[in-house]
Amino acid sequence: MTAHLREAQTGLERKVAERTQELTIANEKLEEASQLKSQFLANVNHELRTPVSAIIGYARLLRRETEGQIPPLQRENLRDLLNNAERLLAQIDSVLDFDTIEDGKMEVRIERVKVEEIIQGAASTIETILRDHSIKLTRDIAPEIPAMNTDREKLRQIILNLLDNAVKFTERGEIKIMASQQNGSLKLVVSDTGIGIEKGDLTRIFEEFHRGDRSSAKKYRGTGLGLAIVKQFVRLLGGEIAVESEVGKGSVFTIMLPMDHKESAAA
Ligand code: ADP
Repeated sequence: MTAHLREAQTGLERKVAERTQELTIANEKLEEASQLKSQFLANVNHELRTPVSAIIGYARLLRRETEGQIPPLQRENLRDLLNNAERLLAQIDSVLDFDTIEDGKMEVRIERVKVEEIIQGAASTIETILRDHSIKLTRDIAPEIPAMNTDREKLRQIILNLLDNAVKFTERGEIKIMASQQNGSLKLVVSDTGIGIEKGDLTRIFEEFHRGDRSSAKKYRGTGLGLAIVKQFVRLLGGEIAVESEVGKGSVFTIMLPMDHKESAAA
């Protein structure tokens, strides 16, 4: 009996030692992976972001300096070059942003913000990519929305990401952005008449890297990070986001954001 027990105990101790060693190795691998990820993202910043920013800078300079001196076609090419470089920069930034959010290091900078200005700016950026589409972009901004206290860049990014998706997943019809004030909150609605989202995808589209079934088809480019960033930014600004959609009819994204967001609440 005693011999049996001793044997069992030795076996158990050996198993514990084996498992502990396995866990130690797994932990080391995780740490190594995490270091590699940090190194990779630092490289993304340096090797990708820096040169793309330089391309944008030179393209802007060229556009300014050749004003009125080059034929319209070349000017158009220059504009396309600039638009595409800006898109690329936005994609790189979303990867870097996402990592910062995941690390809990994303800062919120509150300032006085006029939502109308942000919507108009984002809408004109989007209009440059709408040229070849048969889609109309309309703005419906309630008059006299007072200035808000919020993070300008994050609000801009939220609107841009939603409009960018609306353009991407809509072939014809209308994209609409609406803004109004409701019980101390800003209500933002971005709707489209695009491909719509399957019911089963509706809750998952806000997860990082999740791309809806209908969009995984190579036809629609994307990384699956856009809405995950929107959701996190909305949360950082103390708001909420909801989506309604019907396949083949279109989608409606609704955001409620406090007009007066306190920094401490974000933390
Ligand atoms: P990406 O657009 O890069 O795939 P997102 O996180 O922005 O990633 O969106 C996740 C998924 O949500 C998309 O792949 C698509 O399936 C769905 N989606 C988002 N916006 C729309 C929209 N306006 N219309 C239809 N589907 C959408």
